[in-house]
Amino acid sequence: MPQINILSPHTADLIAAGEVVERPASVVKELIENSIDAGAKNITIEVSAGGMGSICIKDDGHGMSPEDAGIAFLRHATSKIVDESSLESIATLGFRGEALAAISAVSKIELQTRERGCGTGTLISLTAGDIDSMRPVGCPVGTSMKIDSLFFNTPARLKFMKSDKAEGSACLNAAMRCAMGHPEISMRMYRDGQELFFTPGDGSIKSAVYSILGREIAMNILEVSSVGDGISVSGFVSAPHAGRGNRSLQFFFVNGRAFKSVMLQTALENAFKNTLLTGRFPTCALYINLDYGKVDVNVHPTKQEVKFSEEKKVFDAVYYAILASLGGEEKTAEISLSASTQTAVTPQKDFYKRMPASEYRSSFQATAKSYPNYQLRESSATYNTSHVVAKPDLGDLNVLFSGEGKAPSATAESAPPAPAIDAFAQTPYRIIGEAMATYIIVEREGELILIDKHAAHERIIFDSLKAQPGNIMCQALLVPETFTPSARVLDILTDNAVELKKCGYEFEIIGTGSVIIRALPADTTGTGAAALEEIAEKLMGNIKTDLRDVILHTTACKAAIKAGKSSDPQELERVAEKVMSGDVRYCPHGRPVSVCLTKKELDKQFMRIV
Ligand code: ADP
Ligand code: MG
Repeated sequence: MPQINILSPHTADLIAAGEVVERPASVVKELIENSIDAGAKNITIEVSAGGMGSICIKDDGHGMSPEDAGIAFLRHATSKIVDESSLESIATLGFRGEALAAISAVSKIELQTRERGCGTGTLISLTAGDIDSMRPVGCPVGTSMKIDSLFFNTPARLKFMKSDKAEGSACLNAAMRCAMGHPEISMRMYRDGQELFFTPGDGSIKSAVYSILGREIAMNILEVSSVGDGISVSGFVSAPHAGRGNRSLQFFFVNGRAFKSVMLQTALENAFKNTLLTGRFPTCALYINLDYGKVDVNVHPTKQEVKFSEEKKVFDAVYYAILASLGGEEKTAEISLSASTQTAVTPQKDFYKRMPASEYRSSFQATAKSYPNYQLRESSATYNTSHVVAKPDLGDLNVLFSGEGKAPSATAESAPPAPAIDAFAQTPYRIIGEAMATYIIVEREGELILIDKHAAHERIIFDSLKAQPGNIMCQALLVPETFTPSARVLDILTDNAVELKKCGYEFEIIGTGSVIIRALPADTTGTGAAALEEIAEKLMGNIKTDLRDVILHTTACKAAIKAGKSSDPQELERVAEKVMSGDVRYCPHGRPVSVCLTKKELDKQFMRIV
C-alpha cells in the first residue's frame, strides 16, 4: 500500500507560511521590506488590534504592472533574482519570492498598485491565496496592501497569538528595526489610529534615533565611523554612562538589512568592557557595509540571520570601530572640561583639611543635635583626623579608640545616655574622606574600608521605600514636570500607571503624547522623567518581574547620591554610618557596598611582614 502523498500546492504554502509568517510582526517586516526594495521614499504602516485586526502598508515605490500583480502571490514569484548565480550577491532585502505567497495563504488581502509610468492601477482581492477579483482602479503610483483576518484558516497558529498588546508591540519593534535600517526613507507608523513614530527620512541616523528611540537616548550617543579592509562600520553606540538594563536596543544592520548576531553582540560588549557597569548593556545601531558577495543572507527563511565569509574580519572591524569612538570620548572629556566643571568634579578641599578639634566640634554641633542618641567625639591626634563622625557613646570601649593615640576627651554637652548596642557596631571609626568622588574611605581598627557611596545610598533608600506598606508616600510637585517619551515608553507607562501611582508616581498623559508628572515618591530628589523612562525600559525587557520591586529599585537608584560627583560631608556621614553599623551590606542589585582592606594585607603588600 503506497504511503507517500504529494501535498497540494495550497497545503505546501500553508506549511511554508508557518516558517515565514510566525506572527503579525512577520507580515509587517516582510511588507516593509518589499516597499524598501521597491525604492519607496515614504512608507506608512498601520496596524489594528495588534495586527490581528488588519495590517496596511502603503508606499510610493515603483509599483507593479497588472501582470506582475497577478502573479506576485505565487510561490517563488520574485523580480529580485533570476537564477542561481544571483544568489552569490544579493542586494535586495527580499529574494526568496515567498513572503506574499505565505502571507496570502493565511489571510485575506486587498492589493492596490500602480506602476510608475502607467496610467491606471490594479486592485486585487485574495482569500487564502486565491484571487477573488481583479480590476483596474485609479490610484497613486506605488503599492498599498491591506491584510485582514490573519491566520483565519490556521486555527493551530491562531491559538499561539499573544494579546493584541504584545503582538502590537512586536509589530512596532519590527517596523522600528526597518526604519532604523533606512534613515533615508521616511516611515510613519500608526496603531489603532494613533501615531507611534515618524522618521523624517533625511538620511541622518541621529534623526532616526531621535524619532524612534527618543530624546534621552539620542542625547547620549557616540558616533562610530570606520572604513578599512573592505568593511565600513558606522552608526552609534551609547555613551558608557548611558547603559541600559537589557539588550533590547542593540541593532545591527548589514547592507541595510537588520540581522541578529551573537558574534557582534560580543564584539560590542567586549569593546565596552571596563567602561560599563556590570549588568548594564550598551545600546547601538551599527551599520556594516561590505561586498554583497561576502555575506550570505540565504541562511533562514526569515532572513534575520546572516553568515559572513570572513567573520573574524567583521568582528575586528566592529570591535575596533567602537573602541575608537569610546577612546575619542575619553579624550574629548579630558580636554573639554570647562573651568566650572573642573571645580565641580574636584573634591572639596575643605573636607580633607586637618581641623583642630574645637573647630571641628563647633561646625558639627548642629549635626550632633539631629542625632539625639549620639555624642560627638573629637579626633585622635595620632590619626591626623580630618573628619570624625558623630557616633554612639563608646562607654568602656573608649579604650579601643584611644589605644593608638590620645583618648577622646570631649563630648557634646547635651548628649543623652548612650544607647545599648553590640560591641561590633560600637567599634569606633573615622571617615578619612571621599576618593574619586565615588568611594568613602573609612578607617576602623586595623582596617581600611572603602564604601561605594552610590550603591550604599541606593540600598538605604530602597529599604526605606520597601518598608512602607501599601502605597508609597508621594509629594506633589510645585511645578509639574512635563516630558514627551517615545511611543514605546508611553505605552508601558500607560499600562503600569496604577502600580506606578501606588509607588508614588502620579502623572497624566495628554493627547499629544506628553506626560505631565504631578507627584513623585516623597524624599526622592532626582527622580522624575528620567526615572519613569528608566522604569519603562526595565519593564520592557521583563515580562514577569515583580513590578513594585523594579519601580522601587529604579527610584532608589535615581534618588541616590551619584558616583563621580562629590557629595557633601554630611551626606557621606549618613551613608557611612549605616554601612558601618552593619545595616547595609549589599546594594539592591546584590553588589557589595563596601570592601575592606586589612592592615595585615597592606603590611604584606609593603613587605613589612611576609
Ligand atoms: P521577494 O520580496 O522575495 O521577491 P515577495 O513574495 O515578498 O518576494 O514579493 C514578490 C514580488 O512582488 C517582489 O519580487 C516584487 O516584484 C513584488 N512586490 C511585492 N511588494 C511590492 C511593492 N510594495 N512594490 C512593488 N513590488 C512589490
Ligand atoms: Mg519580499
